[in-house]
Amino acid sequence: MGGTFDPVHYGHLHPAAEVCDGVGMEQIRFVPSRVPVHRDQPVATLADRVRWLQMAAAEFPQFVVDMREVERDSPSWMVLTLESMAHEFPDSPLCLIMGMDAFLKLDSWHRWGDLFEYAHIVVTHRPGFDRPSTDKANQLLDGREAEKMDELYVLPRAAGGKIFFYPVTPLEISATEIRKNIRNGGSSASMVPESIRDEVDHCYRDN
Ligand code: ATP
Repeated sequence: MGGTFDPVHYGHLHPAAEVCDGVGMEQIRFVPSRVPVHRDQPVATLADRVRWLQMAAAEFPQFVVDMREVERDSPSWMVLTLESMAHEFPDSPLCLIMGMDAFLKLDSWHRWGDLFEYAHIVVTHRPGFDRPSTDKANQLLDGREAEKMDELYVLPRAAGGKIFFYPVTPLEISATEIRKNIRNGGSSASMVPESIRDEVDHCYRDN
């Protein structure tokens, strides 16, 4: 699961945990982007975003923070990230997890059609974002939608990527709202793990 994690919050952690258990994944790798390519630049420093993610991920046994985009000297293009992961884990089918908001913009991603060479995509529900309208769906899905969850992990990766819509408990949390709330004198309480709460509040209060 890629993202800016500016900051990481329960809207990332809980859907990922539900997918992990529901699909029976071995591991969830969170990939913080160093230079996001499809959106505004982050507010918090890279060091803070990564440290918070590491502290949050430590609370879930199957979560790992994957530093390949941070360490790579090129833009954070997901297709390169997946290519490198497929190389590192040649025997494990890969799934790219993203919220519906991200999926709706997938066609603007660099070489997005090539993502399916390396991974399946699992799209989680996100409050405020519906499935794409017919035209857009035809373009994005293009016969790739999985009928059953089995298809995600039974099919070998070489058979081509599938897209699976995974219903998770809806959480109305976004990093933008967290940052806004803190700037307006509020706190991130209940939206981020307690271990990072004070640091997160402190960071965005003045930024
Ligand atoms: P921002 O508000 O700054 O855009 P964000 O909260 O959307 O940030 P990102 O780091 O951009 O967080 O998101 C990383 C991934 O997590 C994306 O695939 C996004 O769709 C997903 N995601 C974020 N929040 C939720 C949520 N509440 N429910 C489901 N998926 C989410």
